[in-house]
Amino acid sequence: MSSITIAPPPKTAGPPMQKETTAGNYFISNYPPFAFWQQEQIPDFHAALERTPAPGLPLGLYTHIPFCRKRCHFCYFRVYTDKDAEDIRGYLDTLLKELSVYAAKPIIGSRKPKFIYFGGGTPSYLSPDQLKFLTDGMKALLPWDEAEEITFEAEPGTLTDHKLRAIRELGVTRLSLGIEHFDDHILEINGRAHRSKEIARAYAFAREIGFPQINIDLIAGMVEETEEKWRETVAKAVALQPDSVTIYQMEVPYNTGIYKQMRAEGKLVAPVADWETKRRWVNYAYGQFEQSGYTVTSTTTVVKDPAKVSFQYRQGLFSGADLLSIGVASFGHLNGVHYQNQHDFQPYVDAVNTGQLPIYRAYVVPADERYLREFMLQLKLGSVSADAFTRKFGRDPREQFAGPLATIKEQGFLTNNGDRIGLTRDGLLQVDRLLQAFFKPEHQTGRYA
Ligand code: SF4
Repeated sequence: MSSITIAPPPKTAGPPMQKETTAGNYFISNYPPFAFWQQEQIPDFHAALERTPAPGLPLGLYTHIPFCRKRCHFCYFRVYTDKDAEDIRGYLDTLLKELSVYAAKPIIGSRKPKFIYFGGGTPSYLSPDQLKFLTDGMKALLPWDEAEEITFEAEPGTLTDHKLRAIRELGVTRLSLGIEHFDDHILEINGRAHRSKEIARAYAFAREIGFPQINIDLIAGMVEETEEKWRETVAKAVALQPDSVTIYQMEVPYNTGIYKQMRAEGKLVAPVADWETKRRWVNYAYGQFEQSGYTVTSTTTVVKDPAKVSFQYRQGLFSGADLLSIGVASFGHLNGVHYQNQHDFQPYVDAVNTGQLPIYRAYVVPADERYLREFMLQLKLGSVSADAFTRKFGRDPREQFAGPLATIKEQGFLTNNGDRIGLTRDGLLQVDRLLQAFFKPEHQTGRYA
């Protein structure tokens, strides 16, 4: 336990109410917002790599694969649809070079990753040979024998029986299928590359092969979503009986195709359902899954059997683990410092090829912001243990956040139950909006991008 000095709680009147879906990032995946990360703090990141970490601090490894068959209209990730086999091979070489620099640093020492995540982009865009080349190289630099979870994101249309077997043979334990919707028209109009037939085939293969955990992703509120189509999609998802389901509410960040079209047409409101409708749709889905025996375990997740199914990547991220991230535009956190890599392909590759780490911006997270970050991220799971926080940080969040918690309580979103600071279902469905009330005053205005 360490006692820390914590800045005074934010004095806000409460989170803004927003009804329509307008452009911008809505979801909170980190703190403070990325807009506050700076190039000036890159030397601090390099210094952090030369220090050994606190004993027992878990290490995760994230690898960004930025290739996709086509760009979805709602996508805000750094992805490329025009790279050929030679570019891809060059990128995989670069990833391994980047990892080799980290592997030699004191921050890594003899540590091995406890959890590994392949995200994108579309990791399953890679061929079995490319995947084997990459993962053999990674394992030689940083062995996977202590990894308890290896997650791999996949787009259904890229999966053949052969490729799925190859993915399982790499050691993947958690396959995450980007299904998003089951209706072909909705998939098409939103720019997805796959169709419902491919979902059925990929899911059946994956089950047959026996991945320990299969997650499916859905999005509530895609362009042209209707009440009826959403209900059909939920029914199909329930029928598959995946181990877990992640349901996102559609947001429209500035760098999406949808926003570009809005701007061209001079529109301020996105052509998707409003927030209240999206929350209602997610709540409907939760109800259907609950009737089928599932448990809601976070603002975005239902799980079939919480005793068996965990998500260590999220758990690690939300409780301050180190995350070594490699690849273009990826975000990581090492020894108390956030960092993001160069967000364009060539500057990223060039930096690594000249022997440097390709860091674009960094942020040294002070103790009070680490406390805030963990509290906010864990509230996204539905409840936080005040005692556990007090033990870890030396300050009770019920006192520290008395102001924002009172505001949320007045709004009817808080369920105080002794040690547990919890959210009602309604609160959980809009937790990202409520979290703004906990931000330090100087971070209230920062864009997330
Ligand atoms: S598949 Fe995923 S990463 Fe690729 S364009 Fe679509 S949303 Fe973006």
